[in-house]
Amino acid sequence: MKITEHIQNADGKTLFSFEIVPPQKGVGISDLYKNIDPLMEFKPPFIDVTTSREEYIFLERENGLVERKVTRMRPGTLGICAAIQYKYSVDTVPHLLCGGYTKEETEYLLIDCMYLGIQNVVALRGDAMKGEKYFKPALGGHSYASELVEQIDALRCGRYLNEDTGYKGCATDFCIGVAGYPEKHIEAPSINYDLQMLKKKVDMGADYIVTQMFFDNQKYFDFVKKAREKGITVPIIPGIKPVSTKKHLQLLPQAFKIDLPEPLINEVAKCSDNNAVRQVGIDWAVHQCKELLDFGVPVLHFYSMGKSDNIYKIAKELF
Ligand code: FAD
Repeated sequence: MKITEHIQNADGKTLFSFEIVPPQKGVGISDLYKNIDPLMEFKPPFIDVTTSREEYIFLERENGLVERKVTRMRPGTLGICAAIQYKYSVDTVPHLLCGGYTKEETEYLLIDCMYLGIQNVVALRGDAMKGEKYFKPALGGHSYASELVEQIDALRCGRYLNEDTGYKGCATDFCIGVAGYPEKHIEAPSINYDLQMLKKKVDMGADYIVTQMFFDNQKYFDFVKKAREKGITVPIIPGIKPVSTKKHLQLLPQAFKIDLPEPLINEVAKCSDNNAVRQVGIDWAVHQCKELLDFGVPVLHFYSMGKSDNIYKIAKELF
């Protein structure tokens, strides 16, 4: 079922969903299942599976020369989607990236989705590759998520690439999610500009928005208000990430270009170990989510990134 249908069928009740990251290459799927199993108690209508960008690795050869290769450290997004769908009878949402993919490769992925009965995808640009300053599209790939949305939307009327060859495609009506940034995307010159680009993604066919994590709800409320003023009417799903280690105080702002509120920083700073930090993160997220529930958000979407015990504890307080 489409995410938008899940939201409609919920009839105003807030749904619970979460995002998982594929394991590192060579690691089996059992740990992932161990983290998903307890969360199924909260009946998530869908689970997102991220896609990692390719990265450079350096291999030392016998002759002493170093060879640079490009590889994906966490492959298998679509396989994991299919496995989870089969095991738990839940909709899965693969993240599709512009970065590292040609339009043809994207089309093949979408065709695989169609065969697997996957009806929802999140269309993203991806970040710059590790070690590179700016995002570079693949040769023959897309530069912005809005272009990827346009390609996916074209399949709704069966328009595949190279249709001038006489090929007539089978229509596939994917429900398309895109990313939104309550604190602005790092590269956007202003929040207003970023919202215009978000509107473009919606105009191209995006059906819903999932936000970057935020720790101050006011940022989300302001973002929703401004998005509505711009004429963006699709559901805006908040993304929630509980802080779980002291290192997050530096890592989260660095990786996701977000601010942490002073009271949260102070509580984390007081903790003597990471168990205590994990509890602070749970308490903060519960407080955040209660306010978001009162606001009437359609879904509370959690970034799980590994161990899910904290998300279980948060959900247990809310659902
Ligand atoms: P875009 O919407 O293309 O925007 C990128 C930047 O370009 C913005 O600053 C925007 O304002 C600007 N812009 C957009 N369109 C135009 C235009 N036409 N002309 C000029 N400027 C424009 N990354 C991964 O690698 N894998 C994942 O699985 C993943 N999942 C994510 C899930 C969510 C919910 C979120 C919020 C992010 C996720 N990311 C993921 C990170 C994401 O790939 C990065 O934040 C990336 O830098 C931007 O992606 P985007 O789709 O928002 O890009």
